[in-house]
Amino acid sequence: MRDVIVVGSGCAGNTAAIYTGRANLKPLVIAGHEPGGQLSLTTLVENFPGFVEGIDGPALVENMKRQAERFGAEYVHGSVDAADLSKRPFRIGVDGQWMETRTIIVASGASARWLGLESEKKLIGHGVSSCATCDGFFFRGKKIMVIGGGDSAMEEANFLARFGEEVTVVHRREQFRASKIMLDRALSNPKIKWIANAVVEELFDVEKGLVSGVRLRDVKTGRVWEQPVDGFFLAIGHVPNTAVFQGQLALDADGYVVSQGGARTNIPGVFHAGDVQDRAYRQAITAAAAGCMAAIEVERFLEAEGH
Ligand code: NAP
Repeated sequence: MRDVIVVGSGCAGNTAAIYTGRANLKPLVIAGHEPGGQLSLTTLVENFPGFVEGIDGPALVENMKRQAERFGAEYVHGSVDAADLSKRPFRIGVDGQWMETRTIIVASGASARWLGLESEKKLIGHGVSSCATCDGFFFRGKKIMVIGGGDSAMEEANFLARFGEEVTVVHRREQFRASKIMLDRALSNPKIKWIANAVVEELFDVEKGLVSGVRLRDVKTGRVWEQPVDGFFLAIGHVPNTAVFQGQLALDADGYVVSQGGARTNIPGVFHAGDVQDRAYRQAITAAAAGCMAAIEVERFLEAEGH
């Protein structure tokens, strides 16, 4: 029987593990299908406080893990494939094996949606990004492309226009899902150019290990053309990793955990941390802070129950 199982090993999960480890709760962390979370997909992180020159995302998250292990956290590979939150102790299934625990911190994150191209995958962190706040700064004076037609795409295009020589928004249809106010703001930005009814077929240049251009196809006319680009930003949505908790944890229409205030979910003893609940900020530092909050709530919960 565990005092606490942490589901997820990104910034939120690792920080929860550091805090619950230091509280002597010997947390068990289930690493998940993307160990290290979204930081493991980035290169230089320049906005995490405390690193004057920045730090590589994978190194930052690995440091957090080692820090948690120093305080007794244990990590297991694999993903949660079953959960029984109907009674206490809770049960978490990992690769067919059940584990019992008094509390759970759900820090399973939200995965960015990608186009699914092989070239895109190979260039993530080398010009391909799903986070303008994180990576926009690296594209000062460069040609930037943003994919998507929702509020995120508008927000990212506006933000990136501060850095780039030009920002081109590429959307697969003519109608935009974005709210009028966000769309209007982007439309009135002179640095933003628009390509509607187009999809990206290929990214270049995998051989060189950096983004140098894209091949686009007009879905109406079938015209295919290539265009130079230095920074390629996906803003086509995120998918919270909550499928396994469906029907037990209160989730919103998109699958994000609904907070009951602080780090509390609808089930006493189950807490949330990080992007699995946060569609607004999605930063390493906000996820870390959320992990800390969840850990403190776990401590208080167990203490109140006399553990
Ligand atoms: P979203 O509203 O789901 O929009 C995703 C966009 O990506 C859509 O335009 C969609 O096209 C496109 N897309 C999806 N899959 C694609 C694919 N495989 N290839 C090409 N395009 C694809 O996601 P979001 O913009 O991240 O917004 C999520 C939620 O957060 C929304 O409720 C939004 O209002 C909110 N949000 C609010 C703010 C704000 O108010 N400041 C900022 C950001 C986000 P289709 O339209 O054709 O489906």
